[in-house]
Amino acid sequence: MILMSKDKPEKRTYIIDSTAIMHFFPNDKIVNEDSNLIIPDILKSEIKSFQAKAVLEVMDADQRLVYTTPSEHSLIKVKKEAESSGDISSLSKADVHVIATALDFPGAHVISDDNAVQNLCSFLGIKVETLSFKIKTRRVYFWKCIGCSNKFKEKINVCPECGNKLKRFYRKKKIKG
Ligand SMILES: [Zn+2]
Repeated sequence: MILMSKDKPEKRTYIIDSTAIMHFFPNDKIVNEDSNLIIPDILKSEIKSFQAKAVLEVMDADQRLVYTTPSEHSLIKVKKEAESSGDISSLSKADVHVIATALDFPGAHVISDDNAVQNLCSFLGIKVETLSFKIKTRRVYFWKCIGCSNKFKEKINVCPECGNKLKRFYRKKKIKG
């Protein structure tokens, strides 16, 4: 029998990425918390090791693990934001699915140790819980011409002014809170 109480705070929802699966064991908080755990379907192909499968078994001990596919709408939004933040080249397809899934579940927290995932989530207003590595600043990327030093907000292959190559740089912006 499932007991429900309206006085209880709403269940927290976590979107789990592959770094979170790999480092899950030391995290008692999530193991013991009454929460929903969501894993994007695309990660199934990455979950091969014995250890990762064991972690998933622990996660699903009380049947709170859900596999899902993000909406097309959220995928487009994430890719667009990643292009403008400059994170797109550092994000795997699985990363994009993790963040898009978080958009599909408002209020959900992403669990990830991945720098680019954390960076993009901060742009999208998604809370991130980390297991060992947390960024304190977010990176705003820009591209600079190695010839004439012209700066560009978006990635282009050659400088329209002098035809030289561009190199990626970033400035740091503090994350509030
Ligand atoms: Zn140039």
